[in-house]
Amino acid sequence: MKQNQFNFEINAKIPGTLGRAGIIHTPHGDIKTPTFVVVGTYGEVRFLSPSQFHSIGIQAMISNGFHLSKISHEIDKAGGLSQYSGYNCPTITDSGGFQVMSFGSGLGKVISMNKRDIAREHLKAENKKRLARVTDSGVYFKTKEEGDEKLITPEYSMEFQHKIGADIIMAFDELTNIGDSREYNKKAIDRTHRWAIRCLDKHQKLASENTNKPYQALFAVLQGAHYQDLREKTARKLGAMNFDGYGLGGAFEKEHLSDILFWSNKILPESKPRHLLGLSKPDDIFVGVENGCDTFDCVAPTREARHGKVYTLDGDINIRNAEFAGDFSPLFEGCQCPTCKYPYTRGEIRKLLKNEGAKKTAKQIASDKQLAMELLTIHNVYFILNLTRQIRQSIIDKNFFNFRDKWLKRYYE
Ligand SMILES: [Zn+2]
Repeated sequence: MKQNQFNFEINAKIPGTLGRAGIIHTPHGDIKTPTFVVVGTYGEVRFLSPSQFHSIGIQAMISNGFHLSKISHEIDKAGGLSQYSGYNCPTITDSGGFQVMSFGSGLGKVISMNKRDIAREHLKAENKKRLARVTDSGVYFKTKEEGDEKLITPEYSMEFQHKIGADIIMAFDELTNIGDSREYNKKAIDRTHRWAIRCLDKHQKLASENTNKPYQALFAVLQGAHYQDLREKTARKLGAMNFDGYGLGGAFEKEHLSDILFWSNKILPESKPRHLLGLSKPDDIFVGVENGCDTFDCVAPTREARHGKVYTLDGDINIRNAEFAGDFSPLFEGCQCPTCKYPYTRGEIRKLLKNEGAKKTAKQIASDKQLAMELLTIHNVYFILNLTRQIRQSIIDKNFFNFRDKWLKRYYE
């Protein structure tokens, strides 16, 4: 019965593709898709109060399961992550696998990279002593701060994700590095399949012990790098198991993104939602939607806002640049976000951020900077959300390709 609290409804499709617009129903509300899911690593989005969070139309938040595992009892007492965060919206946690494995490699999650990024990441990984060790039982890892080796298992991941109580939780998977061989990737997906069964068992056991709690949907995470046979094999295996949805992961070159998503999603059951982990560049979102992904998350819109990067329909700008001093236009003309509607001007925000000219106290500098971060975070998150809202509408209006071509032409030219 409780399983009825979670389901996915498809409203419209993009003809000739795997793309669709839909609604994910969860115990804490609906998520209209496609949409961007904002990242709140520690259970809150930096520089966004609950009222700002809702005023820009955020529908869901994804948090870091490993970081929150340390305070899972507190979150449980608060009634789960939705209540604990104060946002009272649908929430997602990852399995913690990405976090502990990235201690070792310095690489991880879903990264679509160009060749230069890959070379840089390789170097980083080589320079970093491997601090994580993957075995069939789970992942042994060390943090720099604590030193002693700890073990995280699929069962333990289910335990803390059940305590945290997000609407969507992720099965524990082994992520590989972009430098790992085909042979290694094959071993890793076989291990991920064994872990998937253990996650499902533990998840069902915990759910049957806690029948008073809202239903939690368990998603499996698919890996397999850029190898077609591995991607298809894992989609067949995990697609046949009793998961509520799927996360698409892995590190790969950007040029493979479209193929990888297509190989996976054409096999996965159509009736279940699919989350693309860690991507939010506009061109990647369009590729993801067209190839059957429903939700997306990435730290970029909030992180880049903190570095002064502003998204606009004509491409990104950096508000720190001298050319924006004394500029009286909003961050982007016509933008309907609370920052641009207020309206704060580019010049004002730059001044808050840069601390040039006027003498300010240390306290004033800090509070100005805080305000600038808030204003920029609001704008960038709104921008990506608005893009996904328009994509959803274009699918419903049967106008996706036209919208996509016009949008991308303007943004990237
Ligand atoms: Zn704006």
